Amino acid sequence: MTDSNLIKTGVIGLGTMGQGMAANLQRSGALAGAWNRTRSRAEAFADEHNCTLFDDPTSLAAGCELIITSVSADNDLLQVVDQLLSGLALGKVVLDTSTVNSETAREAARRVTDRGALFLDAPVSGGSEGAINGTLAMMVGGDAATLDRLRPTLTAITNSVTHMGPVGSGQATKAVNQIMVAGINQAVTEALAFGQQQGLDMHKVIEVVGGGAAGNWFLDHRGKTMVNNSFTPGFKLALHNKDLEIIRQMAAQLGVELPIVEMTLADYRSLLNEGHGEEDISTLFHHKRDLFSDG
Ligand code: NAP
Repeated sequence: MTDSNLIKTGVIGLGTMGQGMAANLQRSGALAGAWNRTRSRAEAFADEHNCTLFDDPTSLAAGCELIITSVSADNDLLQVVDQLLSGLALGKVVLDTSTVNSETAREAARRVTDRGALFLDAPVSGGSEGAINGTLAMMVGGDAATLDRLRPTLTAITNSVTHMGPVGSGQATKAVNQIMVAGINQAVTEALAFGQQQGLDMHKVIEVVGGGAAGNWFLDHRGKTMVNNSFTPGFKLALHNKDLEIIRQMAAQLGVELPIVEMTLADYRSLLNEGHGEEDISTLFHHKRDLFSDG
């Protein structure tokens, strides 16, 4: 540790997002070590970043004050929480950056607080680039004073941390984000497929449109890759599909069906069946191009 305000931190889950966060925490001096379910992935990361690996989630929790989790879905979060519980103690904090249901966040919080530790739901936005560059936007539910204590450490991975309210409100905010991501994906892939059919120079289209009122993050970061037929994640379609399923449940509890969510889930279902689940969500461009070849 190089700064006394930094909290000894461990990262559980070295996927697309977790690797970027762990690498930035290592550079800042806050990383005590990491753990990943697939050991070979953890070893490759440790070799590249010269970091310590813990043998299991329990020993990571025992050796760290702040435990950051980044796993795929609701059941995965509850599994790793159960695996780390016996390493927790009074004052330790579990901060989950995965995207899960608000109710799952509240359940994880119950399990963690039963051990005298604290839980914050802290989903992030900004994509794999945000994780690599340390510029994620983080929306946090839970105790505000606990979050304030973590802020100097979190500056390694975020450039914006917003306290939203009690546990679960971070995930509710992330759901808002994911509905917008669905609509933006629909709009950008459809518009660029249309542009291609007009015979336009699509790189010029992306530059000029991106500088005007329709400019947005997704167009800037995924426009050129999709027209170049590259769909490396990024953000896997299977994960966004999982988020939209969560949102569908949350909307159903209010007696509502959200049109953009339903349309995108239907598109994603067929893309999943066609084997595109591990590609970036911009793979929706395939379907939009098909609109023209079917016509
Ligand atoms: P990813 O690349 O698929 O990585 C998933 C990670 O979770 C891997 O380290 C995986 O371990 C681990 N994992 C999954 N199930 C597990 C279990 N049951 N027990 C232990 N570890 C488990 O996913 P990602 O893109 O990093 O996303 C992680 C989370 O962040 C997701 O909730 C996603 O929705 C959210 N998110 C992603 C983005 C993005 O742009 N990618 C942006 C914001 C938020 P293995 O290596 O063993 O498989």
